[in-house]
Amino acid sequence: MVTEGYDVVLVGGGVMSATLGVLLRRVQPDWSVLALERLDGLGLESSSAWNDAGTGHGGLCEFNYTPLTGDGSIDVTGAIRISEQFQLSRQLWATLVEEGTLGDPAGFIRPVPHFSFARGAAGAEHLRLRHAALRGHPLFEGLELVRDRDAMAELLPLMFAGRPAGEEVALCRSRGGTDVDYGVLTRRLFAALERDGVEVRTGHEVRSLSRDRRSWRLRVRDLAGERD
Ligand SMILES: Cc1cc2nc3c(=O)[nH]c(=O)nc-3n(C[C@H](O)[C@H](O)[C@H](O)COP(=O)(O)OP(=O)(O)OC[C@H]3O[C@@H](n4cnc5c(N)ncnc54)[C@H](O)[C@@H]3O)c2cc1C
Repeated sequence: MVTEGYDVVLVGGGVMSATLGVLLRRVQPDWSVLALERLDGLGLESSSAWNDAGTGHGGLCEFNYTPLTGDGSIDVTGAIRISEQFQLSRQLWATLVEEGTLGDPAGFIRPVPHFSFARGAAGAEHLRLRHAALRGHPLFEGLELVRDRDAMAELLPLMFAGRPAGEEVALCRSRGGTDVDYGVLTRRLFAALERDGVEVRTGHEVRSLSRDRRSWRLRVRDLAGERD
């Protein structure tokens, strides 16, 4: 067993550890930081582009951020709060791009329209309420309710091929959406952290975590060497 000490240990090699590491580097550049990931590479789990939808949770299209309240109205505070958070993330990435830390942004973010689609009378009403409540907000500028069915079919031909003509549907489009490849972003953030002195170990699994007076003790398994 080998015992080592660090000011901070980031557990997991996803976008959350990468982002926290970058922020910590700014406020405490003198802290020693170790990142541990059990897989053989970084950004391969939820942050991988194959495993998440990449909307950045901008709040533009997700129904669950705008629940119906039961009295016929809609609560959009979640969508606005989450959209603000996403804009803050974009500001962080823009700053890092300007500093030359993240490389060409086209490698991890690009504009793509976001759509909300609803079926049935209740779903369509939910979408109409959502659109009416959000369209006046600056973060949701340009949110567009598409009313004409032919226009919907032109925008989403695969979804409308063979769809019964009598089915009630509703569609909302935001041209201001983005597609984020969090896997690429994660690897670029970790590359920057490594250049900045952070130690990153893949193939290392944290097996236990316990409080040790004012510190923490982690038991880590090197999966390649099968050694604690
Ligand atoms: C189906 C799906 C769709 C999604 N769609 C979107 C979307 O459209 N927009 C959006 O913004 N977000 C979306 N998300 C959420 C987003 O992917 C996650 O919020 C984000 O990737 C979480 O990052 P993370 O670093 O916490 O997790 P991860 O990227 O999963 O990283 C955690 C890492 O920790 C490692 N790990 C776990 N246990 C240990 C251990 N004991 N020791 C060492 N390493 C360990 C794992 O191997 C993993 O690599 C989606 C998620 C899913 C699953």
